[in-house]
Amino acid sequence: MANFFDTSLEFLKGVGPQRAALLQKELKLFTFGDLIQHFPFRHEDRTQFYKIKDVNELIPPITIGVQVKGKITKMELIGAGFKKRLVAQFKDETGELELVWFQGITWTLDKVKPGIEYVIFGKPNRYGKKISIAHPEVDLLSEKSERGGFLQPVYPITEKLRARHLDSKFIAKLQQEILKAAQSHIRETLPETLLRNHKLISKREALYQIHFPQSHAALASAQHRLKFEELFYIQLRLLKMKLVRQEKFKGQVFNDTSILTQFYNEHLPFSLTEAQKKVVREIYADLKSGKQMNRLLQGDVGSGKTIVAFICILICIGSGTQAALMAPTEILAQQHYANLKKYADKMNVSIALLTGSTKKKDRKLLHEALENGDLKLLIGTHALLEEGVKFHKLGLAIIDEQHRFGVAQRSQLWLKNKDLPPHVLVMTATPIPRTLAMTLYGDLEISVIDELPKGRKPIKTTHRFDSHRLVVNGFIKTQIAEGRQVYIVYPLIDESEKLDLKHLMDGYESIARAFPDVPVSILHGKMKAEAKDFEMARFAKGETKIMVATTVIEVGVDVPNASVMVIESAERFGLSQLHQLRGRVGRGAEQSYCILISSFKLSAESKVRLDTMVRTNNGFEIAETDLTLRGPGDLMGTQQSGALDLLIADLGKDGELLKKAREAAIEILDKDPELKSGENVVIKRQVEAAKNSTVNWSRIS
Ligand code: ADP
Ligand code: MG
Repeated sequence: MANFFDTSLEFLKGVGPQRAALLQKELKLFTFGDLIQHFPFRHEDRTQFYKIKDVNELIPPITIGVQVKGKITKMELIGAGFKKRLVAQFKDETGELELVWFQGITWTLDKVKPGIEYVIFGKPNRYGKKISIAHPEVDLLSEKSERGGFLQPVYPITEKLRARHLDSKFIAKLQQEILKAAQSHIRETLPETLLRNHKLISKREALYQIHFPQSHAALASAQHRLKFEELFYIQLRLLKMKLVRQEKFKGQVFNDTSILTQFYNEHLPFSLTEAQKKVVREIYADLKSGKQMNRLLQGDVGSGKTIVAFICILICIGSGTQAALMAPTEILAQQHYANLKKYADKMNVSIALLTGSTKKKDRKLLHEALENGDLKLLIGTHALLEEGVKFHKLGLAIIDEQHRFGVAQRSQLWLKNKDLPPHVLVMTATPIPRTLAMTLYGDLEISVIDELPKGRKPIKTTHRFDSHRLVVNGFIKTQIAEGRQVYIVYPLIDESEKLDLKHLMDGYESIARAFPDVPVSILHGKMKAEAKDFEMARFAKGETKIMVATTVIEVGVDVPNASVMVIESAERFGLSQLHQLRGRVGRGAEQSYCILISSFKLSAESKVRLDTMVRTNNGFEIAETDLTLRGPGDLMGTQQSGALDLLIADLGKDGELLKKAREAAIEILDKDPELKSGENVVIKRQVEAAKNSTVNWSRIS
């Protein structure tokens, strides 16, 4: 049977080709399946009727819509031109209010008459003593009373659709049609046991109640069921991917730790934190397991991921293979190279750097050494992925700052060893809330370094308004006098790049004026790579004391002597970005400071962001706040991730449910990895259907 939900919307009663084209263009609704999964984003409560007296007592600003029964006593046209409006007096036994139309006046005059009992609905506004409702919905009382009290769905709609009268009410009508037609086609998509254990209502019931709930409780049950299903199938897919990979790919076995022991005994510059030790144990267990490792290593800036990476590299090289580390930018690659070289030299591990600007001649030598196995450790940018880069035997691929690379690039690295894929360690300094990590990286194992090395002084963060700049400058002066260095960062956001660059240049000039005897560096994305490196090197060597920069310094710069981070127009940065920037200081022994400068006028959200920064240094706490403030789609680095285009679940709010859904998926795959049992037939069918189609409505049929 051709799938009912595949049917083009054109064939639904009340649609037709023209409206179908419009729904397609405006809402991306192509099929019956798309429509039925076009869920309302809220419901208007029509279970209650207000008396006009009570509407009068609502305290402005009134944000809810109210529903009132009554009659129109008088209608008149007032004003002319664009001020022309239709005003009606609307009365019940307790009082009177005004209904106003600015548009569709002729239409309204034709449909709405005095003396008839209506139910009106709309958002009241108060003008002095008068209550007025603009463009109310008007229904005959008889129509209303037939349907009784209900929660009316409100659907996402566009301006264009509204202009053609294809409004939320119209969509609601279509939903009624489709639900009627779909009756015999809606199949259950979750197995009995899951429904029972998690107290989920049936698929059919859920689809009805999500659109036309009979009560608030019914709506909540429908949302719960549909969210669970969505999260469950996402998790199942990720976990299945992991399973398949584990079966398909054997891992290289690394269990020679003699080099590592030597490093620990002779060269480890400090004792590892408990968190670092725990993570090393987790990784080592993978490396010797015979299965290919795919692990995410999360750790806040400064938590000491580099040494962990080097330890893994040693384990891998000690077992006769090579390692590669890929970073998203040239600056960051260089930084890693410089850091790792210190350790590598001590251990006689050959190391090289490969980036876009590596000279042809050097490149050739490097390629040779890599291919014959003389070169053990290669650091670089995505230049590593190029065709010509061939390893003798790649054992471990480390990817830093994963969120800037795609999954595709992750798998490209795999192919650098044709016999057995390398183990993969993905490192990120952007703390990701658990719910998000489970979805973005649900197919990876996750390790977290949740502790900073001992003796770190927490960075002191303050918030100052523009008007306090002199005080801030005074503070900078004292810090420089004490031998410290300072970053001053300006926002640079694509859309207004020219303007931002001007701010940066103005800022640079005013700094130069305020600190005439202090050498100042400048760094921004428009500079040539050599110029950038030159400035960066001067600052790192301490030749310049102040670095005026854009966010290009966000990743990769490590100048332990820098103790002050001033962020200009801080209200324009996202929380994670502010946190990343702050992480550039606090790397040395001295007390460090972060000063957030903003204008006096702040949106409520900006205020929360700045307050959060002042309150805490904990990256995970900051990430959680960011997630609830902005939603997952806007979190740094997750923008392009299709993984987050959810139909109904919200990763910011549905964390608990996500955990349950993931546990359920794990339990099922544990018992029945192939999904062969009778009970799991439903699941198998869903998974297969999803495979055959990129459209996610296939999940419902
Ligand atoms: P990140 O996780 O941001 O990459 P790094 O690896 O750059 O952090 O480490 C930050 C600083 O902390 C480095 O100077 C490093 O040498 C130091 N460090 C790392 N681990 C420890 C430790 N266990 N004890 C003391 N210092 C450490
Ligand atoms: Mg690092």
